[in-house]
Amino acid sequence: MGRGRVHLKTAGQEQQLSHLSVHTEAEPSHQDGAGCVPMIFCEPSLPGKAEIMTPHEAAQAPLEFGGPLGVTAMMVLLPATMFHLLLAARSGPARLLGPPAYLPGLEELWSPWALLLLFMWLGLQVALYLLPARKVAEGMELKDKSRLRYPINGFQALVLTALLVGLGVSAGLPLGALPEMLLPLAFATTLTSFSLSLLLYAKALAAPVSALAPGGNSGNSVYDFFLGRELNPRLGSFDFKYFCELRPGLIGWVLINLALLVQEAELRGSPSLAMWLVNGFQLLYVGDALWYEESVLTTMDIIHDGFGFMLAFGDLAWVPFTYSLQAQFLLYHPQPLGLPMALLICLLKAIGYYIFRGANSQKNTFRKNPSDPSVAGLETIPTATGRHLLVSGWWGMVRHPNYLGDLIMALAWSLPCGVSHLLPYFYLLYFTALLVHREARDEQQCIRKYGRAWREYCKRVPYRIIPYIY
Ligand code: NDP
Repeated sequence: MGRGRVHLKTAGQEQQLSHLSVHTEAEPSHQDGAGCVPMIFCEPSLPGKAEIMTPHEAAQAPLEFGGPLGVTAMMVLLPATMFHLLLAARSGPARLLGPPAYLPGLEELWSPWALLLLFMWLGLQVALYLLPARKVAEGMELKDKSRLRYPINGFQALVLTALLVGLGVSAGLPLGALPEMLLPLAFATTLTSFSLSLLLYAKALAAPVSALAPGGNSGNSVYDFFLGRELNPRLGSFDFKYFCELRPGLIGWVLINLALLVQEAELRGSPSLAMWLVNGFQLLYVGDALWYEESVLTTMDIIHDGFGFMLAFGDLAWVPFTYSLQAQFLLYHPQPLGLPMALLICLLKAIGYYIFRGANSQKNTFRKNPSDPSVAGLETIPTATGRHLLVSGWWGMVRHPNYLGDLIMALAWSLPCGVSHLLPYFYLLYFTALLVHREARDEQQCIRKYGRAWREYCKRVPYRIIPYIY
């Protein structure tokens, strides 16, 4: 659920960090350059409103996700869905809808070895996080005017993990046995996410008001436990949320994919073309997210959401165990895939990636340096905060072109699994729901931030994600 909600956190926008922080009513300025729209759009429609609310303000704000009842249901349904998918992928009928073929007993779910393996994995990723980084980036300005510092070494962690796994395999590490441990590993990870969220909640009780997240301090303990009370829980310089966002779960996801590929090779002599495609596509996605790691510092997850069960479970459990669903499905249900179809799927993936990366990079560049020659000629709308909104280029096509590219890529991940089953399309369905919900949340925040200028943007660019459809 990284991303709200069970979701990943990945690639995205690198914005000018000095402009993030608390968004209050401001005199318009033109530092984004290329101001071109009448000043009427510079008037905020809402009074100056801090992005980070006090607990009192938060208590007045509408609760998300259906409030305490909604989040309680999610805390049951999300792990249940994850286990359902794990069981369905290995069952004969591989049904997405309908009850699982059987319910595993505790002895099948609980394994101290799985817990040990998980802790070793987390320990390895913590050690890689603590290694010297090629860069240390500053996050947004916080309510107390300070900025946190973050090591940018996620891609380095991916490469070093790959080297260590490669060394391990050549020394006899039975990577192909990992798929057999997915159920107990998922169980151990769920327990760990739950325990971590409890510890974070307890830690947040002692945190100063300025450290609390805008949405996770409603006063209802169940709701706050889910959303996360503290915005950036840290132990010294170790940042729990930033660490979990992109490392153990994302790198774990591609490791599980690789283990499934290895097991398929052991079972059938060589990995199938479909398995190669799924592994390659998803490795590209994870590599991209870690290469552009700094952009996570400006995502909703880092600047707005607290660190509670939603992100802890989403990042640590949901991502690796459900995002690897296509590879799991292919291991138990091999699918024929001809070269022409494989090439078409690669083309689709390339188109999706082109849109996704093009849109994210265009906005990142614009936020970092609006005079950069690649974005200086784009049409923009000024806003009362001094920033501008792009209304041409990718961001003039739809209001979330990056989501469109992401969804096209999600389709390309599922197509290698054929069309005989709905199960491998789960990610596409879930991700569509997630992005539609995320888009609505972002829209609310942008209306708060930019007021009338945002409404003008919506008029100029009426479609949200898919041109002429949505
Ligand atoms: P976005 O990159 O879409 O950023 C939204 C922000 O961009 C807005 O709040 C606003 O912030 C700025 N913005 C919006 N419109 C414009 C415009 N016209 N001109 C300039 N700035 C604009 O946010 P996300 O974090 O949701 O997504 C980042 C990436 O991560 C996406 O590619 C998404 O698909 C991916 N993702 C993947 C997930 C997964 O599980 N695989 C889950 C969630 C996201 P401001 O003005 O303050 O700069």
